[in-house]
Amino acid sequence: MENAYLIHADNRHLLEKRMNRLQNKASKLGVPFEWEPLYTVSTVVETTSPATGRKIPKEYRQLAIYFKGEAPRLGGWEFAARVEHVRTDDGIENIMYTHPEFEGTIPEAYRNVSHGCDHCRKNIYRRDTYLVHKDGEYQQVGRTCLQDFLGNDPQALITYYQEFSRLLGWALEEGEYWRGKAEDVYYRDDVLKATSAIITKHHWVSGRDAYNNWDTISTKGRVVYYFTRPVEESARAAWKKWVAEIDAVEVANDEIEEAVEWARNIDADNDYLRNLRVLAKTSAWEFGHLGLGVSLLPAYRRHIGQELKRKEKAERKPRKPSEFVGTVGEREEFTITVERVVSCESRYGTTGLHIMVDQEGNALRWFNSGAEDMTEGKTYKIVGRVKKHEEYQDKKQTMLTRVKFEEVAA
Ligand SMILES: [Zn+2]
Repeated sequence: MENAYLIHADNRHLLEKRMNRLQNKASKLGVPFEWEPLYTVSTVVETTSPATGRKIPKEYRQLAIYFKGEAPRLGGWEFAARVEHVRTDDGIENIMYTHPEFEGTIPEAYRNVSHGCDHCRKNIYRRDTYLVHKDGEYQQVGRTCLQDFLGNDPQALITYYQEFSRLLGWALEEGEYWRGKAEDVYYRDDVLKATSAIITKHHWVSGRDAYNNWDTISTKGRVVYYFTRPVEESARAAWKKWVAEIDAVEVANDEIEEAVEWARNIDADNDYLRNLRVLAKTSAWEFGHLGLGVSLLPAYRRHIGQELKRKEKAERKPRKPSEFVGTVGEREEFTITVERVVSCESRYGTTGLHIMVDQEGNALRWFNSGAEDMTEGKTYKIVGRVKKHEEYQDKKQTMLTRVKFEEVAA
C-alpha cells in the first residue's frame, strides 16, 4: 500500500517519534515501511460543549503524511483472520476478526471451525487461532506455532501490526484485530448498564466518529474510563465524581435484558452481527471485546427503530405534503422525530445529515458537523436557525443550522 493519510497531529513531535519507532520495528522484521511528513492541515469546526451545550469553535490539526508499507507475507503467507474461540452458554463459538488488509473471502467453514492447529495438530484449547492464506489455500495456526510456521517472531509482528493499524485509524468498531495476552474481565451486564447510562448522558459516539473528531471521546472510551480507577491520586477525585454522575443516571434494565435476548438470537450472515451474537452469549467479556460489546445497545436500538418504522409505514395514513416551517434567518423551536442520520465523510471529519420530520409531517434537515448526533427513531425538542427553505425532488424541506437538541421522553 502506498498512500497519503491525514492523521492526528496534536503533538507532532510525539507522532514523529512513534512513526520512527514503527519504522525501526519494521526494518527489524524485514517489512517495508517508509513515511514522510508532508504538511499540517488546520480546520476550525463548531463543537458542542458537553458541559454547557454551547457551540464552541475548535481547531483540529492533522498531519498529512506520505506512507508506504506492506503487510508482511512470511513465506508467502498473509494473515486473513484471527479466530477467537469463546466459551459461551452454548459451548465454544467463534468470533471472527478479518484482517483489515485482507481482500479475499474467508470460507464459510471457518466460522464454526474448532480451535485446532494445522501445524502441530495438537488437540488443546486455544483462545485464538490465526487463519493464514496463500494462493487460495488456508491454514489455521495456533499462536505459539506461528513462529515455527512463518519463521518469524509472531509477538513482535503482532505488536507491530497493532500499532500500525491504530495509527491508520483501523480502530474497528467491532473490536481490534490484534490483542494481547490474558486480560481483565468485564461483566456483560455491568458493561451494558454503564453503556446505557453513558449514552444517556453523553450521546452515542462511535469509535470512528471519535477518531475523526479527536477531541471527542468514544462511548467505548468512556466505558473503559468508567471501569478504570486511576492510579494517580490526583486523577481519582474527578473520576469518582464522574462515576457517581453516571451511576445516578436511571437505566432501563428491561431494555438491557431485551437487547441481550435479541442479540443472542440474531440470525444474520454478516460478521458483525454474528460476532455480536457470540459475545451476547458470554457473560464475562475482556478488554478486547468492549468495542463490539458497547455497540450492542445501539445495534438493538437501531433494530427496534427499524421495526417501528416498518410498522409505522404499514399503518401510516397518507400524510399531507411537507410544508416549509419557520422563518428564514430566525432561531426557532421545533419538536421533531429523527427518521435517519446519514454519515457523510468529509475532510472535516464525519458529518451527520439529520433527516427529520415534525409532528405535522413537515421535512427538516440539519448537517451536524459537531460531535454528537441525535438518535434515529427518537423525538427531540430542538432549537435551530432556519437557514433556508428548499425544494428537493418536489418535497419542501426546511434546512437548519446550529441546532441544539434535547430528547423528549417517549
Ligand atoms: Zn500448533
